[in-house]
Amino acid sequence: MTAMVKAEGVHKSFGPAHILKGIDLEVAPREVFCLIGPSGSGKSTFLRCINHLEQINAGRLYVDGDLVGYRQKGDKLYELRDSEVALQRRDIGMVFQRFNLFPHMTALENVMEAPIQVKREARAVARARAERLLDRVGLSDKAKNYPSQLSGGQQQRVAIARALAMEPKLMLFDEPTSALDPELVGDVLDVMRGLAEEGMTMIVVTHEMGFAREVGDALVFMDDGVVVESGHPRDVLTNPQHDRTKSFLSKVL
Ligand code: ADP
Ligand code: MG
Repeated sequence: MTAMVKAEGVHKSFGPAHILKGIDLEVAPREVFCLIGPSGSGKSTFLRCINHLEQINAGRLYVDGDLVGYRQKGDKLYELRDSEVALQRRDIGMVFQRFNLFPHMTALENVMEAPIQVKREARAVARARAERLLDRVGLSDKAKNYPSQLSGGQQQRVAIARALAMEPKLMLFDEPTSALDPELVGDVLDVMRGLAEEGMTMIVVTHEMGFAREVGDALVFMDDGVVVESGHPRDVLTNPQHDRTKSFLSKVL
């Protein structure tokens, strides 16, 4: 079975700062893959590389069997054209810590926008799907609200619906609940749990260890640009093998 995401010796530097120092990992289709680690360890950078927001400096990164950003001929790599990169990106949904919805558009319009702009989809088709998705994230009664009229948790659920509108095969979540008031976290995690149950492949950077334990199929602890430890969430969280993992978990659990 082709991995949904495969990283082989992935390195990323920003100028002299070596951030990702040889990441190897594999995410299977339908897997909920949780990524944890201290601030600055490179978690966001790794997600951004998968989604073409950063280019890796060495190694290989594949999504669903395709090299991210490159075509391989023999042992030479050729950069993909912008149009080809855009095609790869369409299949990946990303949800950030900050919801960054379009402020001048209603919730419904936010969810309709990408399929219309990117896929040239008919408005009626985009609207029907957007209504369905808002219903799925529990916000059908907020379709006409603007982002400023929604709570942070509601905005984040719209952001999830917006990402799903492109019918991605992979969803990336970068600390989706970190900016939320505690009482709003549960609704967002419930939506993510529902997605997981439907079989969406997800990489989730999170500090929500309860979610990782209950919903995660795999968990990686990253520190200083390397994978320190990985395994089933229950095993890593209850029986960490490495001192760095133990020390991190003692601070967040
Ligand atoms: P995490 O998400 O685990 O907190 P990040 O991937 O955001 O970590 O950042 C890892 C390191 O890379 C940090 O030291 C950060 O300052 C640095 N970094 C991230 N993006 C850039 C950038 N565009 N330019 C320079 N340094 C960056
Ligand atoms: Mg981050």
